[in-house]
Amino acid sequence: MAVHSKDDIRPNLFDDIYASSTLPVSMPKYRIPDEENDPQQVFQIIHDELLLDGNSRQNLATFCQTWVEPHVHDLMNECIGKNMIDKDEYPQSAELEARCVHMLADLWNSPVSADTVGCSTTGSSEAAMLGGMAMKWNWRAKREAEGKPTDRPNLVTGPVQVCWHKFARYWDIELREIPMEEGRLLMTDEEVLKRCDENTIGVVPTLGVTFTCQYEPVAEIAAALDDLQARTGLDIPIHVDGASGGFLAPFCDPELVWDFRLPRVRSINASGHKFGLAPLGVGWIIWRETQDLPKDLVFDVNYLGGNMPTFALNFSRPGGEVACQYYNFLRLGKDGYRKIHDACYNVAAHLATEISALGPFEIIYDGKGGIPGLCWQLKSSSDVTWNLFDFADQLRTRGWQVPAYTLPSNMEKLAIQRILVRHGVSRDLADLLIEDMKAALDKLSKHPVSVSLTAKEATGHHH
Ligand SMILES: *Cc1c(COP(=O)(O)O)cnc(C)c1O
Repeated sequence: MAVHSKDDIRPNLFDDIYASSTLPVSMPKYRIPDEENDPQQVFQIIHDELLLDGNSRQNLATFCQTWVEPHVHDLMNECIGKNMIDKDEYPQSAELEARCVHMLADLWNSPVSADTVGCSTTGSSEAAMLGGMAMKWNWRAKREAEGKPTDRPNLVTGPVQVCWHKFARYWDIELREIPMEEGRLLMTDEEVLKRCDENTIGVVPTLGVTFTCQYEPVAEIAAALDDLQARTGLDIPIHVDGASGGFLAPFCDPELVWDFRLPRVRSINASGHKFGLAPLGVGWIIWRETQDLPKDLVFDVNYLGGNMPTFALNFSRPGGEVACQYYNFLRLGKDGYRKIHDACYNVAAHLATEISALGPFEIIYDGKGGIPGLCWQLKSSSDVTWNLFDFADQLRTRGWQVPAYTLPSNMEKLAIQRILVRHGVSRDLADLLIEDMKAALDKLSKHPVSVSLTAKEATGHHH
């Protein structure tokens, strides 16, 4: 190696960052470099690369939080070193989690809210796994006690989020998912009963179906299952997937009976990071009563100086999200949650009116009786020469992410487009979107995309 003077090897501290020693050359992408690099420069490279992600605030596809209060940022920072699993080392974080569990049990009207069990998870997906496992274990114990076979469990759902497909596959359960039909996009009591038998571990209605945002009729399903039990003796529990609705209905629609007020509802999951308004990475599962969670699913972990009961798929997990969930509960109270969500419902209704007035769209859901959001299809009578996927592409050129997708079986032919209105999607932002929609329609009419397709054929067309 050539001998350098000290000045040669010392980086020039006054270099502009983009003219510095590292940045003019390409950074390795798939191998860890051998040597260290300047933190400022590496930070800038990654910061710049992240620019290519969509702007999360303009992502109208996600249910998850993309805006949080400054205090939430501070708490997240404060908790970055805390591990949720180390309940002995961080007893106060564990205490905040326990308080949240009881607050939620109370919010969801558990008859014994001070005595229920539940826990935080990484999201509704993990919570669904835990809820599903409890149903499977309880069903199996009952069957074994009766001396009956336990090899063919099934689960009855409406059109569910993919986490329930995972649950069924991972735990070897037959998923009896009620397909959508023309004019019926949700589960009904009749369709549920057709699929229930002695091997049904439970029924899962969704409060806020992912595809269309609508609530499934939990009370009707519960009544039908009560009736089934009276006729046949089959006692089939309900788990409500309240990923979104669990944090909406109690504040904005308190008369809707969907929760532990129905004795048949044995467990509920919800996503703290959706309408719970916590930052990404927290969900909740609560059982109605302690005995609804089978004892042998709970591990007593003797670890790092403490003996702690845990029920979770993960071990280590960040603690900040739970602290922030607790912050939201205290900071907002029920009134605050209601105001924030009601503002979202109002924006959704406004968008539905405006989008309907644009002409080619037929609103399927306008934000009433479900999640604050809306979805629409192309009118079958409209003779446009483009489809919803083309329209979504046009909006993307202005940064808006308004997904178009086809529905699950049996409605795969129907393409729809959906907007989720969440904390931070203001009336003004909505009006800017409408202006861009008008411009997009104008452009599509001048530069037709799918000229060979009629609108009807085009609705089922994928890019
Ligand atoms: C989002 C969602 C899930 C998955 O929740 P995560 O918190 O993203 O893991 C499950 N079910 C429904 C109905 C959802 O909307």
